[in-house]
Amino acid sequence: MRKICQTKDILLPYIQQSEYSIKHVYETCQGDMTRFRWDNIVWHRLSIPQTRFILWMVMNDVLKIKVKLRKIGSVSDDLCTLCGLRAETVDHLFFQCVFSKSCLELLKAWLNIRCNIGILSKLDSRKWGVNKATKGAVIATLACLAYQVWKSRNEAVWMGYVRPAHTVVDHIKFDVRTRLKALDAAVMLAD
Ligand SMILES: [Zn+2]
Repeated sequence: MRKICQTKDILLPYIQQSEYSIKHVYETCQGDMTRFRWDNIVWHRLSIPQTRFILWMVMNDVLKIKVKLRKIGSVSDDLCTLCGLRAETVDHLFFQCVFSKSCLELLKAWLNIRCNIGILSKLDSRKWGVNKATKGAVIATLACLAYQVWKSRNEAVWMGYVRPAHTVVDHIKFDVRTRLKALDAAVMLAD
């Protein structure tokens, strides 16, 4: 009964509109479609299990990034731990930071992707221009990149040292190749 009342409350404003749209109501009931696709990426079978949790945390914006830590007074500034140039937000850290961008460009060349992948929260695999098998490899690689970016960020916090992008990328390539081989995925990736 409570559920019916909740649904009625959601639909009421649309029913009262003069231009009632089924499409609009459907989209409202479906919720955030971008987030739904993103879930599919997080739990893709080719993703390395260890990397999924970080990706899930990125998606749900629950990582303790500096912008949040500053608000509660845990740190004195909110500058990115990896580059020190911009505020450490999720979008900056994972796709706009010079460190993450360098890694991503090297990985895109490795995967032979020329299009702009965009920021994590707006990933749209339909625009990558790759076949289904390669799409899985790209997803596994992006999950691994998110994991390694967060690991590098934490190393920088605790050890004051940022690993070079090409070293991080070599790790990612190794991990992704090992994962694909273990699952007999039919994707050929260069060494
Ligand atoms: Zn940065």
